[in-house]
Amino acid sequence: MEKKVYLDNAAATPVRKEVIEEMMPFFDAEFGNPSTVYDMGSRIKAVVDVQRAKVAELIGARPEEIIFTSGGTEANNLAIKGIAFAHRKKGNHIIVAATEHHSVLNSARFFERLDYEVTFLKVDEYGLVDPQRIRELIRPETILISIAYASNEIGTIQPIAKIAEVCKDKGVFFHTDGVATVGNIPVDVKQLGVDLLSLSGIPLEAPKGTGALYFRKGLRLMPLLHGGIQESGRRGGTENVPGIVGLGKAAELTLQELPQKMRHVKVLRDKLVSGVIESIESVKLTGHPETRLPGHASFCVQAIEGEALVFMLSSEGIYVNTGSACASKALKTSPVLLAIGIPPELAQGSIVFTLDVTNTEEDIDYVLEKLPFVVGRLRSMSPLWGKKETAQASS
Ligand code: PMP
Repeated sequence: MEKKVYLDNAAATPVRKEVIEEMMPFFDAEFGNPSTVYDMGSRIKAVVDVQRAKVAELIGARPEEIIFTSGGTEANNLAIKGIAFAHRKKGNHIIVAATEHHSVLNSARFFERLDYEVTFLKVDEYGLVDPQRIRELIRPETILISIAYASNEIGTIQPIAKIAEVCKDKGVFFHTDGVATVGNIPVDVKQLGVDLLSLSGIPLEAPKGTGALYFRKGLRLMPLLHGGIQESGRRGGTENVPGIVGLGKAAELTLQELPQKMRHVKVLRDKLVSGVIESIESVKLTGHPETRLPGHASFCVQAIEGEALVFMLSSEGIYVNTGSACASKALKTSPVLLAIGIPPELAQGSIVFTLDVTNTEEDIDYVLEKLPFVVGRLRSMSPLWGKKETAQASS
C-alpha cells in the first residue's frame, strides 16, 4: 500500500466512526422536523437540545447560549454582523486583528462600506496582539472587538482572558474566533470572559458545514437568517439535525479525549519542528515558539514556492498546507505572514502542518526523510536559491 501521511487537519478531518453511527438514524428512521408539535418532532427537538448541552459543556457555556450554524464562517459572520447591526445606536467602530480569518476580515470590511469604521490591529513578530494597545484604541463609539483565539496559519495563541478584561472594563463586546482552537486546547468561555465565541465541527472530527456560536446570555444579536423561531429566533431555517447530532457527539468525545490528544500531538510536533530546523537550512518557524497550538507547526522555507512544495509532497503521499487553508487557492502572499513582518519572498515559501491524534512517529520520520529532499529539488530549480549561494560565496 502506498504511504499516506495526512498533516492538514485544520483544513479537513475524517468524520469519526462513532460520530457517523450517532448521526445515521437521523437521516431516515428519525427524520422528523424539530418544530412540529407531534411526537416525531418533539422527540427530535429533545435530541437537538441534548446536543446543545454537549457543545455548551465542551466550552463551559450554558445550553441556551449556543446557536448552531453551518460552520465557523457563519458563526463569525453572525457574531460580527449580529452585534454591529444590533448595537449601531451605541456606536460604529469595530476593531479586528489584521491576522484574522477571511470570514472575520471580510465581515469587518463589509461594515466599512456602510457607515462604520474598522481598525485593523497590528500584531508583533509572533502574531500576538497587545491588550494594552487595544485599550488605547477603544473609543466611545467602539462596539466590538474580534480577535481569534489562535491562528490557523501560524498557531499562535492570543492572551484572550487579558483582552476580555480590557473589553469588559471599557464596556465593549468581545468576540473570539475559536475555530482553530476548540478541539485543540481546553476552552472555557466563562473563565475567559468572552461575549461570543465561534467554533467549527472540522477540528472535532464532526462533518464539515457544522459549527456553533456561543453568545453570552442576555446579549442582543441581530439574526443573519431571518425566518422561523428556530434557535430561539436567532437563526431561521429547519435545523441540520444529523449535522447537529454529529457535532454533539464529537463535542462529547473531544471533552473526554482532549488531554491525551494534546500530549500526543505535542510530542510529534516538537519532533517535527526540531527535525525540520536541523535538516533544512534557511527555514524559519513562524508564530510563537511556545504559546502555540500543540499540534501546529508552520514554517517559511527560503527560495521556494509553498504551492510547489505542497504539490510535490503530495506526490510522496504527504498532505500539508501552505498559508491559510481557505486562502491557499488564491495564490497570493499570506496577509498573516506579511502582518508578522515576514518579507514577501520568504512568505511565498509557507508550509503548515496540523497534526491529529491518529498521526504517528513513523509519519513524522517519513516527513523528515522526504522534506529535505523535496526542498532540495525545488531549490535546485530556483533562481532565488542560486542567488543566495552566489551571495554567500562572494561574501
Ligand atoms: N476561522 C478559522 C480560524 C478557520 O481556520 C476557519 C477554517 N479554515 C474558519 C474560521 C472557517 O470555518 P468553516 O470552514 O467551518 O466555515
